[in-house]
Amino acid sequence: MRYQSTRGQVRDITFKDAVMMGLADDGGLLLPEEIPRLTPGDLEVLEKLAYPELAFQIISRFATDIPSADLTELIHRSYASFSHPDITPLVHKNGVYILELFHGPTLAFKDVALQFLGNLFEYLLKERNEKMNILGATSGDTGSAAIYGVRGKENLNIFILHPHKKVSPIQELQMTTVTDANVFNLAITGTFDDGQRIVKEVFGDLQFKSLHALGAVNSINWARVLAQVVYYFYAWGEVRRQTGCREIYFSVPTGNFGDIFAGYIAKKMGLPIRRLILATNENNILARFVRKGDYSIGDVVQTPSPSMDIQLASNFERYLFYLYGGDAHRVVAAMESFSKNGSLRFDDAERKTVEEDFLALSVDTSQTLATIADFHEKTGYVLDPHTAVGVHAGQALCGGDFPVVCLATAHPAKFGDAVQQAIGCDPERPESLLGIEEKEKRCEIIAADTEAIKAFVALHAL
Ligand SMILES: *Cc1c(COP(=O)(O)O)cnc(C)c1O
Repeated sequence: MRYQSTRGQVRDITFKDAVMMGLADDGGLLLPEEIPRLTPGDLEVLEKLAYPELAFQIISRFATDIPSADLTELIHRSYASFSHPDITPLVHKNGVYILELFHGPTLAFKDVALQFLGNLFEYLLKERNEKMNILGATSGDTGSAAIYGVRGKENLNIFILHPHKKVSPIQELQMTTVTDANVFNLAITGTFDDGQRIVKEVFGDLQFKSLHALGAVNSINWARVLAQVVYYFYAWGEVRRQTGCREIYFSVPTGNFGDIFAGYIAKKMGLPIRRLILATNENNILARFVRKGDYSIGDVVQTPSPSMDIQLASNFERYLFYLYGGDAHRVVAAMESFSKNGSLRFDDAERKTVEEDFLALSVDTSQTLATIADFHEKTGYVLDPHTAVGVHAGQALCGGDFPVVCLATAHPAKFGDAVQQAIGCDPERPESLLGIEEKEKRCEIIAADTEAIKAFVALHAL
């Protein structure tokens, strides 16, 4: 399997090179040159497999340059860190299926991809006899999942910037209690936007970037999307076993269009997905795109689902590539026009294509909290606020014709304040959070200044 960029200047590269490149050298995003189609017979085999075996069956179709034995080992090691034997268990509550993606070390779905990516990076660096210094900024979930993905790994250091005292206490503790020598937590005295700007500026210094072999773990790495394709197949197999139904809906709480894009790939591979339900909070650029063909940027507002408080969905360009029939010139023109005008428009034919794949809904804060309360009252089950956005959209948009699987992207204990507001009590803490306040911590408080960050990285880089 070879890979190409959405902007057309990078093509015919291997899976391994695509993983190491991250963002394509022409500024685009990498995609496989073709999407393997599975036959009904293939699906029948896949529906019977346990998670790691299923993951191998899916990932190996795209990672054709990694020997089977190595890939099997990488996958097994990546999912051994999950606390549930099914990895991503599916539960049936209140008329919908909940796909629990939060049993990894940091209690959010990003672990599914980043546990795999950390092991994959270590494997590729060793093979190439190279080192990498990962640099990123986080508003919470990505940083901790990335840190857990690479802690203790060889030839890898990680530097994660978070805004000092501006992430939730649990999120801060999940990062700062990792004391491995290769992990550097930098609490900047500024905002998340400062962190993002600084990281962009550091990467923009190409000499510095190559001197210190800087790497990124943001959601544009193809390996992250790929690892997430697996659980769509897993959930489908479980529903099929339980109900005999062949077609299903997925409802996906969305920010960066990463998770739901993985579902789109699964659909393209032939998984019988009726529609993907794109659920946003008040930051609804993607919902407007699906419902009205209007992709125009607005201001970011704060909601109880902060990991979806995003206006610029970095994976959207991948979808555009397919919507434009693989025409890289049109993608380039659209991205240029979008950065100039802050909006894109779509014609009737394009809108019709979008509607064949997606339904969408923007769910506001009161609906989100009411969904948590209602679900808790009826079933005793506690939804996290991100998951509640998807559950609300799933219940509102699906008429009961086919089963609905709602992706549960975080454990409720990660977002205790919103849960407390909705149901009047704190969610139960899972084992990994017990006593976390008492653990040893390691964190540098540092000025929100690009030169200060560069000096720190230069001093501690591999
Ligand atoms: C990152 C995140 C999301 C959004 O996922 P995207 O891939 O960015 O759409 C949703 N919920 C939680 C809990 C997250 O951490």
